[in-house]
Amino acid sequence: MVLAAEFMKGFIRMADDGCRQGWHERNGGNLSYRLKPEEVDAIKPNMTPAGHFIKIGVKAENLAGEYFLVTGSGKYFRNIAAAPQDNLGIVELDQQGEGYRIVWGLEKGAVPTSEFPTHIMNHRVKKAVTKGEYRVIYHAHTPSIIALTYVLPLTDKEFSRVLWTMATECPIVFPDGVGVVPWMVPGGSKIALATCELMEKHDVAIWAHHGMFCAGPDFDTTYGLMDTVEKAADIYLRAMSCGQGIRQTISTDNLREIASAFHVKLREEFLD
Ligand SMILES: [Zn+2]
Repeated sequence: MVLAAEFMKGFIRMADDGCRQGWHERNGGNLSYRLKPEEVDAIKPNMTPAGHFIKIGVKAENLAGEYFLVTGSGKYFRNIAAAPQDNLGIVELDQQGEGYRIVWGLEKGAVPTSEFPTHIMNHRVKKAVTKGEYRVIYHAHTPSIIALTYVLPLTDKEFSRVLWTMATECPIVFPDGVGVVPWMVPGGSKIALATCELMEKHDVAIWAHHGMFCAGPDFDTTYGLMDTVEKAADIYLRAMSCGQGIRQTISTDNLREIASAFHVKLREEFLD
């Protein structure tokens, strides 16, 4: 039974949690998970593959034949728990890693999220650079991070420095900092390529005036990362809203002390 699978329950709980945070207005946001081989085997009897593969628009050879649980295009996160089979689907990639077919869910004519090309490109990069460890890609419309993209310079360094210094845990949670994608039209291969380039170095990609992408090995870590980055942005906005600017902060030396104490390696180019 597909709905009883642990990965399905974890996926739905994460979607619900994001929704309660206010990150998924209307049909905003999308989520995908790369299934483990044993998870695929367990649900194979319940799969009903569609006949033909549909081109994704991008190619990921290292994902050939893999299965993904993914949110549907135009679907509302708030409806996922009530009707998973209509709002989510499991898709199989073809042997070239460039086409997909639905094997479960996405009923009533639904299709994967319009950001499926970005998800696939991010999975491609993350599977390669983490040697298969990372399985979750999450996109949400996080308001405080979006607000920062209107007031901070859109550089990886500026965002990483501000966010690292907004709470002592931040450099420990995302020692590689964050990447920033300038404003682009969403949904296509151009923004997918820009995002996955950043994902080679970071677990977080911020889309200017739009939201955030996070990657991780499991639901807890990926959700926790999104939550931590968004909270850091919120703290910055609260501090600045006091109207006096930043009077004191976590210094570069402090950041190095945190890195040393918690055995993390902070991205050096953001430390000078
Ligand atoms: Zn979006």
